[in-house]
Amino acid sequence: VNQLEARYRERSLWLDQCPGPLEPRAPLSGDVDADVAVVGAGFTGLWTAYYLKRLQTDLRVTVVEKEIAGFGASGRNGGWASAGIAGSPSVYEHRVGRDAVLRGIRATQEAVDEIGRVAGEEGIDCGYLKTGVLAIATSEPQRRRVEATVRAQHARGLGEEDVRLLTPAEADGYVHARGVRAASFTPHAARIDPARLARGLAEACERIGVTVYERSPALALERGLVRCPDGTLRAPTVLRATEAFTTLLPGERLTYLPLYSLMIATEPLSAEVWEDLGWRDGLLVDDRRHLFFYAQRTTDGRVAIGGRGAPYRLGESISETRERNADVRARLERTLAQTFPPTAAARITHHWGGPLGVPRDWSMSVTFDRVSGLGFAGGYSGHGVAAANISGRTLADLVLGRSTDLVTLPWVGHRSRSWEPEPLRYVASNALVRMLGSADRHEDETDRDAKRVRLIASVLPPG
Ligand SMILES: Cc1cc2nc3c(=O)[nH]c(=O)nc-3n(C[C@H](O)[C@H](O)[C@H](O)COP(=O)(O)OP(=O)(O)OC[C@H]3O[C@@H](n4cnc5c(N)ncnc54)[C@H](O)[C@@H]3O)c2cc1C
Repeated sequence: VNQLEARYRERSLWLDQCPGPLEPRAPLSGDVDADVAVVGAGFTGLWTAYYLKRLQTDLRVTVVEKEIAGFGASGRNGGWASAGIAGSPSVYEHRVGRDAVLRGIRATQEAVDEIGRVAGEEGIDCGYLKTGVLAIATSEPQRRRVEATVRAQHARGLGEEDVRLLTPAEADGYVHARGVRAASFTPHAARIDPARLARGLAEACERIGVTVYERSPALALERGLVRCPDGTLRAPTVLRATEAFTTLLPGERLTYLPLYSLMIATEPLSAEVWEDLGWRDGLLVDDRRHLFFYAQRTTDGRVAIGGRGAPYRLGESISETRERNADVRARLERTLAQTFPPTAAARITHHWGGPLGVPRDWSMSVTFDRVSGLGFAGGYSGHGVAAANISGRTLADLVLGRSTDLVTLPWVGHRSRSWEPEPLRYVASNALVRMLGSADRHEDETDRDAKRVRLIASVLPPG
């Protein structure tokens, strides 16, 4: 158990700092019956189980998790519970129209508040603090992208109170970042400690009568049953909540591109350093590079900052060796020191990463088929914290046959095509991160747009 505990703690700063033991719950053994089987105890699976049980107390809801609750991206991410569509609004716009997309965006804003509400109600101490996101631009191309993004959001129906442009001087009132040419701010985002939220949610689920089995990998999901190594879970409804790990299940290899996002965290910084940084507590900050960074001021006074760009070896699309990468780590350290100079002397205590599920069109889906009883949610393309809360409520409504506003959101029933078979997917994925990295270097050095990004437009999120 100690070795296992060490392995779980190594997966992220958040899991490492989680209070209490990370001892796995009992695994599934023998034949077990339930009304609803949920596979995966990340945010998607746990929110789904939570809302199902809250809506119908006598429903037997059982979760099976390969490792422990919060082992996946949910226990490792940047801790941004932030509004905005997971994926590309334009993909849904073609199918459902502008009004429906605006309703979807509003739903993501509500989800940020809903996460805070449940955390409060269930006594989950996850450092929830709704301070918003500051997006900064540190070059001319980035400035144009910040402005274009805000214009596009206003054209979709959002107002100044949802997202607005700031001058460098105004941005400085949120945090003293170096080299800011322009910025935008949205209040619709909260900082969280993601592992504490995931682990707290698993406990909240159990308190209301959900059964959670850990160390219980589903080997196959079929109509009416989930096979695990030591037992079988029988349930008329089977819901898959395995996001990037879905690609390890039979027949699902090309469902998502498993991209990795990697993070580093500083040691806790002194009060003087925070004073020098002028960083509002809870404020989330990102930039507009192609391989953008995302950062938060943590509850225990560290900066946790992440970014993408880790390549993969053929046949190792999901692998713990991808979770750490010297180049990405060095890039993040450089970005941190350059953008927030008072942090330059701080020790980096943690480096970790995890997989994101990216569908071919970069757009999420929540799907349930009443006839087979099979459903799933995921494909958040790296933006799943708020989205998974919506997915959980939506799957619960779909399973219980409730005709709420959630079940007609743009991503319900959305289908993305598969990725190209290997080695094409591998070539595309590595070309993507290489090209984006080189475009950023070009833009930083010349202050001009990197046109080369157009060469990989076919694998980027549709604009
Ligand atoms: C480094 C990083 C930073 C990120 N930052 C942010 C952010 O700041 N904001 C944001 O919105 N999003 C962020 N994301 C994305 C976000 O974390 C994910 O979209 C979200 O957590 C997905 O939740 P999930 O429950 O669907 O999947 P996961 O959390 O990945 O959960 C899937 C679970 O299923 C389990 N599992 C897998 N296979 C099986 C099986 N066969 N049987 C049983 N169980 C199985 C896994 O062990 C895992 O616990 C980030 C992701 C990473 C990796």
